[in-house]
Amino acid sequence: MLIKQEGIILKTIDYGESNKIATVLTKNSGKLSVMAKGAKKPNSRYAAVMQPFVYGSFVYFKGSGLPTISQGEIILSFKQLHYDLFKAAHAAYITELIEKLTEERRPYVFLFDLLLLALKQIDTGQDPEIIARIVDLKMLTVAGAKPNLDGCASCKSVERDPIAFSISFAGFLCSGCVHRDERAYPVTLSMVKLIRTLFYVDLTKLGSISIKRETKERLHQIISSYYQEYVGVALKSQRFIDQLKKVDGNHFKLDEKKD
Ligand SMILES: [Zn+2]
Repeated sequence: MLIKQEGIILKTIDYGESNKIATVLTKNSGKLSVMAKGAKKPNSRYAAVMQPFVYGSFVYFKGSGLPTISQGEIILSFKQLHYDLFKAAHAAYITELIEKLTEERRPYVFLFDLLLLALKQIDTGQDPEIIARIVDLKMLTVAGAKPNLDGCASCKSVERDPIAFSISFAGFLCSGCVHRDERAYPVTLSMVKLIRTLFYVDLTKLGSISIKRETKERLHQIISSYYQEYVGVALKSQRFIDQLKKVDGNHFKLDEKKD
């Protein structure tokens, strides 16, 4: 049976001498592995479309084994992601996270749009680190580890402003409850608002956000601890981002190629 699907490539692996297997997040059927015969050869008609972050349209044959691609066309290739290492590293982080936290052939209603919008936002100049943190927070729901961000995670009060974020309570703590977790991260009210905004934000409506480096690092620290406690995935792309940051405090760009 021939099936046509739009999807975004999460990763590809070489298979045999000339083939590639791509893991694709499809628009309608969740995550799927497909084989592209001959795609490793540079002159293959699949060579361009079988690349990470490509948003494409695929026709594949579905039989009893691994589906095999018979047509593939690029819809969007997010050019900037290929010329800017810092952007590419964060796009890789997002696709790796989504790949690790999803199961094949299970539909995830909002996930395709989340990935597409995240890649578009990075491609068009939004801070890649902020987009990665938005995806981190939104993926907690997929991972079954949604934090309680609306009131105090202990007494449930929404009257008192939170003053700390507790990993063990999976949410904020108010001044009356902060003593219950001595390892909770103290947070300012602006950090509380930031975490809520990034968790609930609609990426189609995201304006330009600028966050101080220390705030971004603090936010990343809190989210990483949360992931360690409840999700437990180690991402290769995070190690690469850490190395990039060591090389250059901001980030460095490859020379943009002119068409
Ligand atoms: Zn409380």
